[in-house]
Amino acid sequence: MTTPTRIAVIGCTHAGTAAILNMVKLYPEAEIHVFEKNDNISFLSCGIALHVGGVVKKAEDLFYASPEQLAKLGVMTHMRHEVLNVDTDAKQLDVKNSVTGETFTHSFDKLVVTTGSWPIIPKLDGIGLDNILLCKNYGHAQTIIEKAKEARRIAVIGAGYIGIELVEAFEALGKEVTLIDNMDRILYKYLDREFTDITERELTDKGVQLALGRTAQSFKGDPSGKVAAVVTNDGEFEADMVVLCIGFRPNTDLLRGQVDMLPNGAIIVDEYMRTSKPDVFAAGDSCAVRYNPTGAHAYIPLATNAVRMGTLVARNLMKPTVQYMGTQGTSGIKIYDYNIASTGLTETAATAAGLNVKQVTLQDHDRLEFMPTYEDVTLKVVYDADTGRILGAQVISKVDLTQSINTLSVCIQNGMTMDGLGFVDFFFQPHYNKPWNLLNQAGLQAV
Ligand SMILES: Cc1cc2nc3c(=O)[nH]c(=O)nc-3n(C[C@H](O)[C@H](O)[C@H](O)COP(=O)(O)OP(=O)(O)OC[C@H]3O[C@@H](n4cnc5c(N)ncnc54)[C@H](O)[C@@H]3O)c2cc1C
Repeated sequence: MTTPTRIAVIGCTHAGTAAILNMVKLYPEAEIHVFEKNDNISFLSCGIALHVGGVVKKAEDLFYASPEQLAKLGVMTHMRHEVLNVDTDAKQLDVKNSVTGETFTHSFDKLVVTTGSWPIIPKLDGIGLDNILLCKNYGHAQTIIEKAKEARRIAVIGAGYIGIELVEAFEALGKEVTLIDNMDRILYKYLDREFTDITERELTDKGVQLALGRTAQSFKGDPSGKVAAVVTNDGEFEADMVVLCIGFRPNTDLLRGQVDMLPNGAIIVDEYMRTSKPDVFAAGDSCAVRYNPTGAHAYIPLATNAVRMGTLVARNLMKPTVQYMGTQGTSGIKIYDYNIASTGLTETAATAAGLNVKQVTLQDHDRLEFMPTYEDVTLKVVYDADTGRILGAQVISKVDLTQSINTLSVCIQNGMTMDGLGFVDFFFQPHYNKPWNLLNQAGLQAV
């Protein structure tokens, strides 16, 4: 009789859960142990703002798996267990049971690192004041909801998609909201100015104070130790609650010095999710991704990528089987009535990277003007000036055209050029679009 493969998984949110659910099916003989320092698994952080704003009523709807489900599948599920050390040569983990305080050593044959990311916390004076909050996990969501009940003025630092979603939720709750960011426009990484102008107008129309181009430098507190104001390089903003949304860093200190990483600590994996150490795999926010528009490694923490990479770990654990396709960092956001999505490089990002790009921006209606209603749409496609290869795209409209960005993500993935895009077969039907689909039009205008 052969001994079963001992698989250890560290961390169980999206990448960990995806890896485990697939490994259970593929390797029924394996002995799978998962160590999760939290008391829940599979929390959908993407629902935090919707929960804060009251759209998602029940917190339990923000989970799609439970420790009990994993245990029923035969997975040794160690909740509230934190891995303190990893020795990838000796193939051992040091684990602490946070409930009992007991520590023990656990041996493995294969290791899956899905330790994810943690919010960046700037070292600023006053950062330890009460009511300066993070937004990442279930505990954070509950704290934000509780503290927001008492707060009148809320400042969100960081105008990425998480910050914007929270701003909208707080505004819906009737709070006085200030959004602070050191860039001079919101969603700087995802959208070019034509798009952020529209969304900024929408936010200010709703009464949100935009404090852009300002860097938070310190926090002032009140006598009870609660935050009272955010001090920036250009003015002070009163706030009795602050949420930090300035980005994430990979949670990979356990592996530092043992596997190859980017300078920010993101683990580098190959197309089969293998790290530079044999039998050590990694997935999700703990990893760098291959960013197809440039072909380089990048750090783009997204749930979409985490579930894909987690699934690939399972498929490739015993032998290289299915290759990772890389990513375009495709993402979407709804800001009030606007449906927005982007994929790949913005013109700003491409130019900053020194690429020679051109772009086509279409401003049109989503369907024929003889229809009773139609809406404005702006679509921008960025492409390589020499080869015509599509590198990125953005869309905004009050109708939901975000799936067109998924189509363009496929185009980037497959190295398509603007010439080709002009003549792809897309359907036409007056309820939905125009005889020349917007994507065709973009391709044709590039010629
Ligand atoms: C507010 C918010 C909104 C978001 N919205 C979207 C969205 O709309 N679309 C999208 O694609 N992505 C979204 N994301 C990003 C997405 O949530 C992350 O990409 C995803 O959670 C990554 O999953 P992961 O499993 O790799 O890592 P994580 O979610 O970071 O999970 C890592 C797990 O490892 C555990 N762990 C870490 N260290 C140890 C240790 N030493 N021992 C034991 N356990 C450990 C942690 O407790 C945690 O459970 C959002 C994120 C946030 C915060």
